[in-house]
Amino acid sequence: MSAEGFDAVKVRGDFPILNQEVNGHPLVYLDSAATSQKPRQVIDAISDYYLNYNSNVHRAAHTLSDRATQAFENSRTKVAKFINSPEARQVIWTRGTTESINLVANTWGEQHVKAGNTILVSALEHHSNIVPWQMLAQRKGAQVVPIAVTESGEIDLDDYQEKLDSSVVLVAVSQISNALGTVNPIAEIITAAKANGSVVLIDGAQAIAHTLVDMQEMGADFYTFSGHKLFGPTGIGVLWGRAELLEQMPPWQGGGEMIDRVRFSGTTFNTIPHKFEAGTPDIAGAIGLGAAIDYLHSINFKAAAAYEQSLLDYCIERALQVPQIKRIGHPHQYAAVFSFLVEGTHPSDVGMLLDQQGVAIRTGHHCAQPLMEAYGLPGTARASFAFYNNRDDVDRLFDGLKKAIALFN
Ligand code: PMP
Repeated sequence: MSAEGFDAVKVRGDFPILNQEVNGHPLVYLDSAATSQKPRQVIDAISDYYLNYNSNVHRAAHTLSDRATQAFENSRTKVAKFINSPEARQVIWTRGTTESINLVANTWGEQHVKAGNTILVSALEHHSNIVPWQMLAQRKGAQVVPIAVTESGEIDLDDYQEKLDSSVVLVAVSQISNALGTVNPIAEIITAAKANGSVVLIDGAQAIAHTLVDMQEMGADFYTFSGHKLFGPTGIGVLWGRAELLEQMPPWQGGGEMIDRVRFSGTTFNTIPHKFEAGTPDIAGAIGLGAAIDYLHSINFKAAAAYEQSLLDYCIERALQVPQIKRIGHPHQYAAVFSFLVEGTHPSDVGMLLDQQGVAIRTGHHCAQPLMEAYGLPGTARASFAFYNNRDDVDRLFDGLKKAIALFN
């Protein structure tokens, strides 16, 4: 991967929020794994919708509604192309990754998971990819079994192979870990699951903003992500699924738009994707996400990802020179996230001290309590990157950490 062709200075200028002082210091935003910032182009697309053509989609017979419907459905097509989905109808709008996973658990899961079945997840999953399966398993008399994670923070493929038996109906793993940044070997995981006859869901929440994904090449059955981590707005996300699975699944929520005909004698349902989109959707959110994808095309996303990786490598290199800083997890392949501890301090104290210097990081369990427990830690400090960061941000992080070390040791 090469960062050639990526204009880091110009791109940073597209994110107005970065140009401010926090606690008397220029803001350094290193919390993009929690939510990314939005370029002006996305903010403008959302206000253009509200200023000029706000209207409900699909049903009305007037011009504004036609415009809104077109923009809303164009965004679906943009998402489909961005992830190389065979068809746009395989892209279901949700509120985000969490809702996408709950949708699968409550539809495909209700239909297919039976007593005695196993759902395999990895031990490094976000709670969103654990708890919906636990709730389903409890209803069904099934079990959720974790695949072990090694000391380096990688999924233990031997343990996976051992646990992948005929009881496993579903394998649900993340593409990239939000807590450690591990890039999981999803190609191997999917191939083995398919050979076992298991359905596979990939949680792409952390991956989508850092690598190009291709649904046709990946071979997963379901893929999920959130717009707000892809430089788009909150409140919108995607469930992608194989068409034949989506078609067979029952609807989840009932209401407007998801129906074909409603009679008191019985109701029939709409086709996909609308079958899963009850009620007025987040129209502005979908339009904003479409604008985010347009933006990524305009900046050379591949080169941006390479540039961002070089920043993370610089950060890890700098950390190696400070003996009081301990990186948590040493995966061979990693992206976007530097998870660490500072000797003699609690992560939340580090976070507070950095915030006083205008440096925003996240501290805590990162919604991955089972992983933290495996490491015997209450939490970590986490700096996470996007392509709008620069080397100066990394230097400011380490200036702040130096102060924390001096204060607490
Ligand atoms: N999975 C992973 C790996 C995540 O990082 C996150 C967000 N931190 C989620 C799921 C949940 O995403 P959301 O809160 O947008 O639904």
